[in-house]
Amino acid sequence: MGKDTGEEKLVRKTKIPETTIARLSSYLRVLDELGRMGFDNTASYQLAEELDINDSQVRKDLSLFGQFGKPGMGYETTKLKREIQKILGLTRKWKVALIGVGNLGSALLAYKGFKRQGFYIVAVFDNDPKKIGKKWAGIVIHDITQLKPIIRKERTEIGIITVPAPAAQEVANLLTKAGIKAILNFAPARISVPKDVRLSNVDLSLKLENLSFFLSRRGR
Ligand code: ATP
Repeated sequence: MGKDTGEEKLVRKTKIPETTIARLSSYLRVLDELGRMGFDNTASYQLAEELDINDSQVRKDLSLFGQFGKPGMGYETTKLKREIQKILGLTRKWKVALIGVGNLGSALLAYKGFKRQGFYIVAVFDNDPKKIGKKWAGIVIHDITQLKPIIRKERTEIGIITVPAPAAQEVANLLTKAGIKAILNFAPARISVPKDVRLSNVDLSLKLENLSFFLSRRGR
């Protein structure tokens, strides 16, 4: 039996394929672009073309969530965008905690794009006495030992882990014990979480290794 990752669990629970959820985000990006270009209406073939997939795939993905638009008539761009935002839970604000204000953590803290998408970093933690009590991007860095009470008080729902790999599991444990049900892990470490916690890993070095593999084999 393989390890039970958060991603596999979600698929089982909702019966929505992981790949469909990823494509919904892609549809949203395309709809944004089409809206900016002045397209009031769109069709599955247009979304499919932009993403280099089959139009039946677009219809299949959307049909999992109900009926959008009229059969054979396509979709209203803004209406479909709103519906997908609703499905992805993007029509509300999410409170986020970030743990580990090193180089990567501080860059994420300073990034304004999260707020535009409804993700607000409201609580920040570190265990370095030189950093605790200081402000970064306007937010006070708290002592990691205060994680549980602060996360509960702020009603934080998502945790971002940007500590080094050896500390990642310990931080994940603190987050889940504090009641966090969704974790975005940037540490290059495999961590395990309880069944009811959704875990998403972003290993940037792994992505670079993938590119390096591709470049190394070119012209062979
Ligand atoms: P810097 O040199 O500023 O520490 P860095 O990105 O090289 O930056 P890392 O060693 O990757 O630092 O650590 C990232 C951050 O995680 C640091 O600010 C560190 O103090 C913090 N950190 C490490 N272990 C823990 C832990 N167990 N709990 C909370 N924060 C931690």
